[in-house]
Amino acid sequence: MWRVLRIFCVTMLLRCPACQRGQMFRTLFQMNVRCPVCGVVFERDAGEVTGAMAINTALMCLLAIVGAVLAIITDIPTGWLIGGTASVMILFGVFFYRHARAVWVGVLFLTGAIFEDV
Ligand SMILES: [Zn+2]
Repeated sequence: MWRVLRIFCVTMLLRCPACQRGQMFRTLFQMNVRCPVCGVVFERDAGEVTGAMAINTALMCLLAIVGAVLAIITDIPTGWLIGGTASVMILFGVFFYRHARAVWVGVLFLTGAIFEDV
């Protein structure tokens, strides 16, 4: 359990789950293919980015649910609530993109899909 929590924290810092030192991203939205420190490949298959998209989508759905609950329990005008919730969801999706990909790489690492080449 501690290992899972440690890997989650390391990936939220956008660092390699294998060596915990290498940066995963070289630019704001561009992930390194390999860890610059240990050389591990972050996403071995092309479709592995879909896991990160699933994480991002699930969290944005939670934000939509929060917006729906606010619509029920508060007197905020509906237009403001829809606009505010949509804005927060879009901004969250953009700004959490790197972390979602990094967390997915952590999941892949924990399941053994990411390993050091020998
Ligand atoms: Zn590394």
